[in-house]
Amino acid sequence: MLLHLLYATIAVVVAVQLSAFATSIYLHRALAHRGVYLHPVVALPMRLQLWLWTGINTKEWVAVHRKHHRHTDVEGDPHSPVLEGLWRILLGNVYYYTREAKNAETLKTFAPDIGNDWLDRHIFGFGLAGVILGIAIFMLILGPVWGGAAFLVQASTYIFLNAVINGANHAIGKQNFDNTATNLGFIALLTAGEGWHNNHHAYPTSARFSISRGEFDPSWPVIKMLTWMRLARPLKLAPKME
Ligand SMILES: [Zn+2]
Ligand SMILES: [Zn+2]
Repeated sequence: MLLHLLYATIAVVVAVQLSAFATSIYLHRALAHRGVYLHPVVALPMRLQLWLWTGINTKEWVAVHRKHHRHTDVEGDPHSPVLEGLWRILLGNVYYYTREAKNAETLKTFAPDIGNDWLDRHIFGFGLAGVILGIAIFMLILGPVWGGAAFLVQASTYIFLNAVINGANHAIGKQNFDNTATNLGFIALLTAGEGWHNNHHAYPTSARFSISRGEFDPSWPVIKMLTWMRLARPLKLAPKME
């Protein structure tokens, strides 16, 4: 029993963290903002990770996110705590996200360049298939009960962390720049750097999210290591503040 719990907990932490890095580095910095180039050798496992453990459709995610940048905290923002209230975004982010993701006009306007390659059309575009396969893998490794439970917990945690960024990071925390987003260092540690959201709204295309001294962006050393291995290349960088 205890051993099962330990294995399940490890599986949850690893899955959530790998999804967080794939979301931040691949979906967010590389695809949505074109701030970093990723070699397919790196991009492919990240796409696989997101497909199996989140079922996210890249075109939908990028479109909703770009629309959020275009209309931040004003009419048209898909998930604004300023417009909807913090608790509604924290608890109902999935509803707000899905509502916008199903809007064909949003996909056409904000992500015509995303989700059109062979792998998207034949494999990664089918989010439900990915999630079913992900559940099956967890069940094979951990057994049906623990595997099913672990998948549910990792999915819920991932969804909640995204809600925290869309909600809390537009409501509470510190600010380096004059925009409606905030910085939450603790959340940045859990989300591969996404918690530096005030910095990100000031410099959306920067490959590095930390800006001032003492801020740590967990994705940045990963991008730097990949760059050293010639598997990535930062395309834009925000200046550092002293
Ligand atoms: Zn934002
Ligand atoms: Zn962004």
